Amino acid sequence: PLPVLAIIGRPNVGKSTLVNRVLGRREAVVEDKPGVTRDRVTYPAEWAGRDFNLVDTGGWEVDVAGIESKVAVQAEVAIALADAVVFVVDATVGATATDERVVELLRRAGKPVVLAANKVDGPSGEADAAYLWSLGLGEPHPISALHGRGVGDLLDAAMRAL
Ligand code: GDP
Ligand code: MG
Repeated sequence: PLPVLAIIGRPNVGKSTLVNRVLGRREAVVEDKPGVTRDRVTYPAEWAGRDFNLVDTGGWEVDVAGIESKVAVQAEVAIALADAVVFVVDATVGATATDERVVELLRRAGKPVVLAANKVDGPSGEADAAYLWSLGLGEPHPISALHGRGVGDLLDAAMRAL
């Protein structure tokens, strides 16, 4: 069986955009607004000569009351099934309470994690990414899933983790 790389993070941070970037085609559904709950979707992927299964996770935030538990359950399942995780944070928003909650789950699971600081579309966003060192997950990799910036370096790091 192929190793599994799961893409996790809050809704609207750009997980599906990143998946499409890695696949090189628009297969994962990108939403302009968060909140659509979907199943996890697995795509066969390849980077630097390595084959792996890339797992996109759907929107977890359904309504205000349900955020904590929904995030916990979906994150735990995705993490449990993965060999390594790319945790995507929106660098233009910064780390939220939900992000901190997922970091706890990641620590407990003990799976290798690569931190992606997304929506860094240009050099001026680099400072936003640096703030994410505070999550305690090591180096934030600044990327623009939309434009492809930094995605190669992120994938290289993910392959080292996988
Ligand atoms: P998901 O809910 O985490 O899967 O997020 P999506 O991939 O559906 O993206 C949510 C929104 O963020 C869409 O409008 C995307 O076009 C936008 N988005 C994703 N990545 C980037 C990025 O790198 N830069 C910018 N500016 N927008 C992005
Ligand atoms: Mg998505």
